[in-house]
Amino acid sequence: MDEQLLNYLNNLLPQTEEWVKELEEQAKIDRIPIMDPVGINFLMQLIRLNKPKKILEIGAAIGYSALRMNEANPDALITTIEKDDVRYNQAVNNIRKQKKESSIEIIHGDALEELSKLAENKRSYDCIFIDAAKGKYKSFFELALPLLEMNGFIISDNVLFRGYVSDPNFEHPRYKKMVEKIRAYNEWLVNHPSFITTILPIGDGVAISYKK
Ligand code: SAM
Repeated sequence: MDEQLLNYLNNLLPQTEEWVKELEEQAKIDRIPIMDPVGINFLMQLIRLNKPKKILEIGAAIGYSALRMNEANPDALITTIEKDDVRYNQAVNNIRKQKKESSIEIIHGDALEELSKLAENKRSYDCIFIDAAKGKYKSFFELALPLLEMNGFIISDNVLFRGYVSDPNFEHPRYKKMVEKIRAYNEWLVNHPSFITTILPIGDGVAISYKK
């Protein structure tokens, strides 16, 4: 996003509580890619409007977005999955610190395995938020599908990844494969027969897929 526009929007965001600032600072110091301020505020607004009762997140990191989704709808029950040991422990501590253990359940494991277990246990969600390994979004989406209730929605973050995805001349060796995978995911997603998808240039690019 244009830097001037981003600064303008950032300046118009609502004030946050101290614990939010602390988590944002912790993520900055540890270089953990939590959702950016404009993106998280958009996600929170979607949650306020739709009031999902059960939310599933793939990619908890330190628990920042799970806690912010809880802030947007304290009545929602949130399940979040994190595979990294250090981040999982940080998330557990952060959720405990905010006394949100009864609203946010955190699963330690690889979502590629944990999603099937949730399906076996007949768990279901009305909102699913995908924010983990960018090259695996299609697998996450397919594995999450049996968990989604009718008229539920799936949000995928980073679908425009730093603006690289929409750049036809993008050629960075480090990100080339990932960018190609995100492009393929976006194409597949907008053509999925069971969903209507809108992609918005908010934050790092957000796709909202509504289950018909
Ligand atoms: N949603 C978080 C937030 O905004 O506060 C940020 C999540 S961060 C972008 C992505 C996280 O997904 C990382 O902590 C990473 O360890 C985790 N992750 C990546 N692949 C995963 C997988 N297959 N299963 C579970 N977690 C995964």
